[in-house]
Amino acid sequence: MNKKTVLITGSTSGIGLGIAKAFAEKGCNIIFNGLEHNGAEIAADVADKFSIQHLFFPANMLEPASLRDMVQQSIEKFGVIDILVNNAGIQYVAPIEDFPEEKWNNIIAINLSSAFHLTKAVWPYMKNQKFGRIINIASAHGLFASEYKSAYVAAKHGIVGFTKTAALEGAPFGITCNAICPGYVKTPLVQNQIRDQAIVHGLPENEVIEKVILKKQAIKDFVSIESIAALCLFLASDDASTLTGTALPIDGGWSAQ
Ligand code: NAD
Repeated sequence: MNKKTVLITGSTSGIGLGIAKAFAEKGCNIIFNGLEHNGAEIAADVADKFSIQHLFFPANMLEPASLRDMVQQSIEKFGVIDILVNNAGIQYVAPIEDFPEEKWNNIIAINLSSAFHLTKAVWPYMKNQKFGRIINIASAHGLFASEYKSAYVAAKHGIVGFTKTAALEGAPFGITCNAICPGYVKTPLVQNQIRDQAIVHGLPENEVIEKVILKKQAIKDFVSIESIAALCLFLASDDASTLTGTALPIDGGWSAQ
């Protein structure tokens, strides 16, 4: 990775933190982001462990100006952002007729629009150095729907579409853009969902994992954070220089059906 600088949104928890650790292990400079109350300590711990340079910004994905500011301050320290991983995301589960408008707006803003704002902010720097890697953490729900997830499915399908457009526009400038579409990963986002799914499906929580969560995966096991992080490393590598505009499932065979 040759001391590349990587900005990963939502990297103080779950999948994003796993991706940050994988790039840190390769010696990259990491720009951490997330809303966890102890985010600064989480970031500093990873930086200490792997002896890397880092920054931490609790920039809110709902505030485009904060995102631009995070990019600007990162550029001032590191000169460029080589790799952008748009990972921050939230979930909310409810039937359409009960779905709160505020939840819809927040999911679209956090899971989709933030990727546009950040891509736009890093673009001139990537273009100028004729190298850039943009990785969007979409979801199997970027390719398929499930009931009660209208906003999430809309946002994740949207980010797959945005990925394709960025791939076309980035091609002349050495910028690739790909989406990763994981099945279910055991993170706080899914732990909360087990509770919510139990309510909407009227099932006890212990039955939700088998009957709802892993129902669509052929492999009845959660996708590991490490496997997603390893895929990110590959997409960021020189070997992946012509791999662009894809939506790559890592979903226990969900998309094979
Ligand atoms: P998580 O809850 O563990 O982490 C989400 C991160 O996003 C946290 O650091 C949180 O602080 C941050 N975040 C949330 N709202 C934010 C905001 N407004 N501003 C800034 N940061 C914000 O969840 P996760 O499971 O690691 O999810 C990461 C990504 O992976 C999400 O985009 C999610 O949709 C996607 N994904 C998750 C799964 C899964 O099963 N866990 C499956 C497919 C895709």
